[in-house]
Amino acid sequence: MAADAPRSNFIRQIIDKDLASGKHSSVHTRFPPEPNGFLHIGHAKSIVLNFGIAEDYQGQCNLRFDDTNPLKEKVDYVNSIQEDVKWLGYEWEGKPRYSSNYFDQLHAYAVELIEKGLAYVDFSSQDEMREMRGTLKEPGTNSPYRDTSVEENLKHFADMTAGKYEEGKAALRAKIDMSSPFMVLRDPVIYRVRFAHHHQTGDKWCVYPMYDFTHCISDALEGITHSLCTLEFQDNRRLYDWVLDNISIDCHPQQIEFSRLNLQYTVMSKRKLNLLVEEGKVSGWDDPRMPTIAGMRRRGYTPSSVREFCHRIGVTKMDNQVEMSMLEACIRDELNHGAPRAMAVIDPVRLVIENYPEGEVEQLQAPNHPNDESMGSREVPFAREIFIEREDFRESANKKYKRLVLDKEVRLRNAYVIKAERVEKDADGNITTIYCTYDADTLGKDPADGRKVKGVIHWVAAEHAKPAEFRLYDRLFQVPNPAAEEDFFSTLNPDSLVIKQGYVEPSMAAAEAEKPFQFERIGYFCADSKDSSAEHLVFNQTVGLRDTWNDEA
Ligand code: ATP
Ligand code: MG
Repeated sequence: MAADAPRSNFIRQIIDKDLASGKHSSVHTRFPPEPNGFLHIGHAKSIVLNFGIAEDYQGQCNLRFDDTNPLKEKVDYVNSIQEDVKWLGYEWEGKPRYSSNYFDQLHAYAVELIEKGLAYVDFSSQDEMREMRGTLKEPGTNSPYRDTSVEENLKHFADMTAGKYEEGKAALRAKIDMSSPFMVLRDPVIYRVRFAHHHQTGDKWCVYPMYDFTHCISDALEGITHSLCTLEFQDNRRLYDWVLDNISIDCHPQQIEFSRLNLQYTVMSKRKLNLLVEEGKVSGWDDPRMPTIAGMRRRGYTPSSVREFCHRIGVTKMDNQVEMSMLEACIRDELNHGAPRAMAVIDPVRLVIENYPEGEVEQLQAPNHPNDESMGSREVPFAREIFIEREDFRESANKKYKRLVLDKEVRLRNAYVIKAERVEKDADGNITTIYCTYDADTLGKDPADGRKVKGVIHWVAAEHAKPAEFRLYDRLFQVPNPAAEEDFFSTLNPDSLVIKQGYVEPSMAAAEAEKPFQFERIGYFCADSKDSSAEHLVFNQTVGLRDTWNDEA
């Protein structure tokens, strides 16, 4: 169970009131994903809200697959969704539910509406129906099938259900009000014909209920008290209430809307995310650049950091675009305290310590965290040949550059002070080797003569280090709101993935996938759960050490 400090919001205030007034004695929420894609960080907001409320009020939260559109849904998605909800730290009440569990009841309620003269089968074409709907400014017009008798409608619906009509030839509509200012109340379709195999009900049905009809009834059948959804369903609440008011069902959950999460420099619609996958713009739904739970997990985000983000953004009715740096701050704050340190060199250059005995190896002790002794320490081998970061050496530099410079000294992290003596270059003038000397009397202490050595750089022992691939990630898109672009592919960031080949200290060969480390002075990284193996280590950059996004601004 995920336990975080609850933070109040307008929905919790409504619940507090309902409990105080005795309207409800307990709280029952649900999270209702459609299994047509992987869950993303927007869903996490809804999950943390629904499951978090259930937890804090000692209530219950159902997981319900809203599976009324068999054409777009897949069992793979059903499985990934369950895995992601569990990973976030939540447990649903009982078994996962499916809207399709209620297809029999839903059908019976549709028949009840027909019997009450509140639904009719319409044989108009889709174009005709659209024409009759009217616009926001003009009322709609009644369908010629609107006044068909109850008996005929019952027969037509039975025929629909028996597969006697082709797709698009007949639909069941609720008889509400063609001149309603709410378009959703203009005789909405509640059942349609689809000759589709369903991942849960197989070929049992060739008529499927529409979302608006299904959702409210599923909520009521499960005894949901508060049905929380995003703002675009505000108008649909009229239909939600109309259906429950007009069928014989006792429970009437309260629908409450909140604003969706939008995150800058990414897209959140499953349709668009699916396009990125289908068109090979990313390696899959769990590509570490994707805003999916699976992608973030693979990148090294922790469940608590995702929950913390959802708490920080809060729950309101205001539309918003959250900065990516806010998400990154949550994982960075957590890893700064909790991630063990290690050394890696992602752009290596060879360095030889000429006065260090050839063939000798020392096991040096390195603390796993500079401020937390309880995290212990590890052995790091030190030898005559090491790798350092190419950018940590210059032949000449001003005083601001606190790294290794020719003829100057620097400290090797967890090891000795060295001095750069000379360099060797290839035909193109690139440095191939830096030759140094070391001061043997500086292990864990300042030079005896009192001279000051300011800079500290990281390193790995050349012979002992393990080769590793480093995947550095940047924002997936170049513009803050790619969804607003006509061709959102054109705003993809060509440098969203940069691959480096370098080395990690030997202890990293055993790094567990998805468990982030701080590679000192570089950033937070974790071993990739799919591509990393003992023969070929692959590390994903979780997040940088600092918020460079805001630096650029
Ligand atoms: P998408 O546009 O990504 O397909 P959706 O709303 O169709 O999203 P569902 O699977 O139907 O996806 O969503 C399940 C639940 O998650 C719903 O209650 C929905 O309101 C909520 N949800 C989806 N996206 C967001 C978001 N960006 N912010 C907050 N809640 C969201
Ligand atoms: Mg949906």
